[in-house]
Formats: sequence, C-alpha cells, structure tokens
Amino acid sequence: METILQAENIERCYTIGKTTLNVLKGVSLEIKAGETVAIMGESGSGKSTLLHVLGGLDTPKAGSVHFMGKSVYGMSAARRARFRAQNTGFVFQSFHLLPELDILENVALPAMTQRSTGNAKERAAELLKEVGLGERIGHRPQELSGGEQQRVALARALMNEPDLIFADEPTGNLDSKTGDKVLHYLFQLAVGRGHTLVLVTHNETVAARCSRQLLLKDGLLI
Ligand code: ADP
Ligand code: MG
Repeated sequence: METILQAENIERCYTIGKTTLNVLKGVSLEIKAGETVAIMGESGSGKSTLLHVLGGLDTPKAGSVHFMGKSVYGMSAARRARFRAQNTGFVFQSFHLLPELDILENVALPAMTQRSTGNAKERAAELLKEVGLGERIGHRPQELSGGEQQRVALARALMNEPDLIFADEPTGNLDSKTGDKVLHYLFQLAVGRGHTLVLVTHNETVAARCSRQLLLKDGLLI
C-alpha cells in the first residue's frame, strides 16, 4: 500500500528558562494509506507533540515529515495551511468548538473558504445526521453534552474529506459509555470510508481496534 505520511528522525524540545526538555528524540514512522495507527504512552511522553508535528501544526527542531512525498515543513506557511485544511482533520480531547456558532456552522466552517456556503451547509447537515445529531442542527455547542460535542468535532474533522484524521485522546474527557459511542462513530465514519487514522489513546482496548499499535517512550517510538 501507498505511504501517505512519513516522519524521519523527528526531534522536538521545549525550553523554559534554562531548562530544556527533549520530548521527541528522533522519532520515525511510516503510515500507509487506509491504516489505523494507535499511539500510546504515559502522560507527558510527547504524544500530543508528535501528533501536532505529524499534522503540520508544530515545526520540529530536526527531522522531516513527508505527506505523499512532499515535505510538510519544506512548504511555505500558506501551502502548509492548505495541506492542513484540505488533507487533515483533527479531533482534540477538549472538543474546541466555537461557542458563538451553532453546530451546523461549526461543522461547515472548515469548508467555508473552499465550497460555496450552500453546499458546505448541506454537507455539514449530512455529517451531523450521520453522527446522530440531525435533530440538533440549530443548537450551540454548550447546549450539547460532552459526547455530543465530540461527535460535532468529529463531523467537523470529516468535513473536507481529509486523507488523514488525527484524534488526540478523543474520549479522554468522556465517561466510558459516552466515549464508546464517539469511538463507534469515529471508526464507522473515518475508517469505514478509508480515511487514514492516527489515534492517541490511553486505552488498550481502543488501541486494539487499530491495525497497528505504537508506544512512545523516552522520546522514541517502540
Ligand atoms: P502527552 O500528550 O503524551 O501527554 P505532550 O506532548 O503534551 O505529552 O507533552 C510532552 C512534554 O512536553 C510534557 O512534559 C509537557 O509538559 C511538555 N510540554 C508540552 N507542551 C509544552 C509547551 N508548549 N511548553 C513547554 N513544555 C511543554
Ligand atoms: Mg496529550
């Protein structure tokens, strides 16, 4: 299968005052199109940092990330922003929805620069139906439960039909029953349609649903 994302020798550190924390010490990985990859590791091991680097959100100190053969950090910032918008979808632990917008607008937002507004809203409504929120379209995020908000975030991540979906502990703020429902939709919609998924999780049962499991430990992937 085709390699969709390749990371080589990624290094990332954080410097606060005189202290430098080396979080990623030379991480390499290759992800094939259609794969589902779970990244596990203790809290603070650098999972979120790695996901951000892979998704074009955070420039590493050293190393490279290639998306379909193109260097993500070799691109201009504008081109990289387009890569993020067109080719990636992110689901974060804490939903990150905009409280001023209703959920239809939240889901449609990533497409507003690319499609006509009418088409974007139609597709957003379709996605909300698919995550079981068709009846809630005019509601604001704060009128929904945590699990429902995360399903909105999932619909938003799928809006532009991204090649790659990154989910960073998407059920970390949810109780297990609510979390299971979010995962059901994540696997059904993201994986069922052949998107590639990179999922950070603490939960071994969840990780086992992915086709490959990786462990981040002491700044390296095992
Ligand atoms: P994980 O997602 O595995 O819990 P993170 O990638 O969030 O880990 O963080 C890895 C380490 O880097 C942690 O020790 C964290 O405190 C530190 N860290 C993360 N982001 C920053 C930042 N912006 N500034 C300084 N330290 C950070
Ligand atoms: Mg994290």
